[in-house]
Amino acid sequence: MKLKSIKDIKNLKGKRILLRADFDVPIKNGRIQDDSRIQLALPTIQYLLKKQAVVIIVSHLGRPGGKVVRSLSLAPVAKRLAKLLKKPVKKLNEVVSAGVEKAVKQAKPGEVIMLENIRFHPREEKNCQHLAKKLARSADYYVNDAFATSHRKETSLLAITKFLPSYAGLNLEREVINLSQALKNPTRPLTIIIGGVKISTKLGVVKKFLQLADDILLGGALANTVLRANGVAVGKSVIEPAMIPRLKKINLTDTKLHLPLDAVVSPKISKTAKVRTTAVGNVKSLELILDIGPDTVELFKLIISRSKTIIWNGPMGVFEYPRFADGTKRTMQAILNSKAKIVIGGGDTIAALNQFAPKPIEKFKNVYISTGGGAMLKFLEEGMLVAIRPLMK
Ligand code: ADP
Ligand code: MG
Repeated sequence: MKLKSIKDIKNLKGKRILLRADFDVPIKNGRIQDDSRIQLALPTIQYLLKKQAVVIIVSHLGRPGGKVVRSLSLAPVAKRLAKLLKKPVKKLNEVVSAGVEKAVKQAKPGEVIMLENIRFHPREEKNCQHLAKKLARSADYYVNDAFATSHRKETSLLAITKFLPSYAGLNLEREVINLSQALKNPTRPLTIIIGGVKISTKLGVVKKFLQLADDILLGGALANTVLRANGVAVGKSVIEPAMIPRLKKINLTDTKLHLPLDAVVSPKISKTAKVRTTAVGNVKSLELILDIGPDTVELFKLIISRSKTIIWNGPMGVFEYPRFADGTKRTMQAILNSKAKIVIGGGDTIAALNQFAPKPIEKFKNVYISTGGGAMLKFLEEGMLVAIRPLMK
């Protein structure tokens, strides 16, 4: 799959680039908690600036739902970006208006402008041609560098591509190259490890990898739903009962599919309630499965150790509590100890990685960390995303 890259644009000098970034960073009391998404956009912005383009940045932040929500303003992001770029970023207070058009027209080559949170506009999430046309009016080219949002049909991601010549940014390109590599001709054995909460959001990937992978390891709450569908008693574990009929249709006895053998259980998700380890099948009616057990970890370690490509999304247990974190920690250690090509993604998975992995994670040259949670899963499932399709050669 070949993307139209910003490097294919011949003459960028003085050209106005509408750059869709994903600056959806965690902010608390006006302070940015983690700026990695801003850092990731720097190569594309710096490339465009070096070529003397005018960079007009569009991003969303949180879910304001089409209304102006002051706490979700991009002002702190613009400030941080200016600091990282070591140059001014002109933050505008609107998304589209005569004022915005004027500011963009007046900008000089090598200048950066940032529009306000695009989701303040009621038509952003409606993939609106009308708004797209307005956005396009002040630009010569459109560049998408927002991989993590590219599974969404939104105006600044999809509709916009009808109105401007559209290209992929460097971060988006990097995501597509790395994830495609794991999908197409992966070095085998290929193992995918899926955990986390909802089987409903991850079943597509599980089904796809039942075809593609050599081994699928399931942990986390979603494994409880699969165990339940398999007729195993799971007490009052977190499950999705509505998914059980659909799970019964997939071959749960497939030898590629590895479910937990044992579990860490407790009557409560708490720091103090009684905890015990037991074989799956011996969970009492008032207990919850909150982590995979040591036998499961051993099985997972064995499979991980012989894998040549590993994809991991979703924690194995309620890792936010130390007593239910072992499964996630030890699975992660096994993954990081392997020499395989490794792809890791998912909001909570990355949080666990940041918490437990040896630092800096960059020293693991064989590990690729995707910025996409939902977007990564969708890409793995379909080999493409709706807002990436228009960027193809
Ligand atoms: P990601 O964001 O990496 O895709 P998810 O959002 O799907 O991951 O799931 C992460 C959450 O799953 C964590 O907050 C964790 O506490 C929860 N979780 C994992 N195992 C269990 C379990 N057995 N019971 C309840 N919650 C669980
Ligand atoms: Mg999550």
